[in-house]
Amino acid sequence: MKIVKTIEEIRQEIRQARQHSHSIGFVPTMGALHAGHRSLIEAARKQCSFVAVSIYVNPTQFGPAEDFSRYPRNVTADAIVCEKAGADVIFAPDDSVLYPTEQRVWVVVEKLTDNLCGRFRPGHFRGVATVCVKFFNIIGPDQAFFGQKDAQQVVVIRRMVTDLNLPLQIVTCPTLREPDGLAMSSRNQYLSPEQRKQAVLLSAALRECKRVFSQGQHNVSALIAAMRMILSQGPILHPEYVQIVDMDSLEDIDTVDRPALAAMAVRCGQTRLIDNCLLGLQNGLDSL
Ligand code: AMP
Repeated sequence: MKIVKTIEEIRQEIRQARQHSHSIGFVPTMGALHAGHRSLIEAARKQCSFVAVSIYVNPTQFGPAEDFSRYPRNVTADAIVCEKAGADVIFAPDDSVLYPTEQRVWVVVEKLTDNLCGRFRPGHFRGVATVCVKFFNIIGPDQAFFGQKDAQQVVVIRRMVTDLNLPLQIVTCPTLREPDGLAMSSRNQYLSPEQRKQAVLLSAALRECKRVFSQGQHNVSALIAAMRMILSQGPILHPEYVQIVDMDSLEDIDTVDRPALAAMAVRCGQTRLIDNCLLGLQNGLDSL
């Protein structure tokens, strides 16, 4: 497995793979890889004969008060994860490769970025969509693999691909969790032991939501109250939002009378944790 840093090098790798008639799978990441990322690479490995992984902490998706500078970076450890999971090449560009001059063109996905995380992270999805389109243009994958853990991101990227007629397929992979239910995240390593204990309440709240929903409670206010009740058991947890939205439009709804997404962002000390689950759909993407 090679690690390349320039656009010329990654394009050369992809060209060679195409000459051997390989289908190209792509897994974009910010590194600090864990089993959740590994599952995406393994899914790509199953469906594509050549797998490229990007490791890039994209500055344009972080707000000024966010954790860009302290975001964990360890490309050596990440390379071992990638290799074991079956990646063929890692693309780990420097900022000067992706943003050689001040960016003047941005991809803005309207409406879908107004709610949920978009409300609290202005500009975040503009940064995500823009860097993804750069990667898609550089690599030209047949399929790109994203985690349901970042549910709004998946909806935004899918819509960008549709509306810009990008020639690739987006594949969504289930959220991988720790044995106690906490969704795996590179940011979990920020948590102190006490914060880590309380962080389990996010998935517990979502499970409670599913339980109450399955007993016939489809009123959104009641379901949100059930989730907030569980979260309130963690005195150091500060919910930023706890919402239930239409799964396609990501707009608020009053009643779960269609496929819906229950999603939350919770501050735990300096760390912002997110998690979500699907309501009214039979699939295991949230793995709760
Ligand atoms: P990140 O490195 O946080 O930008 O994540 C890269 C990709 O891995 C995104 O598509 C995430 O949704 C996905 N991902 C992150 N955590 C998990 C998880 N626990 N399970 C599955 N996919 C994940």
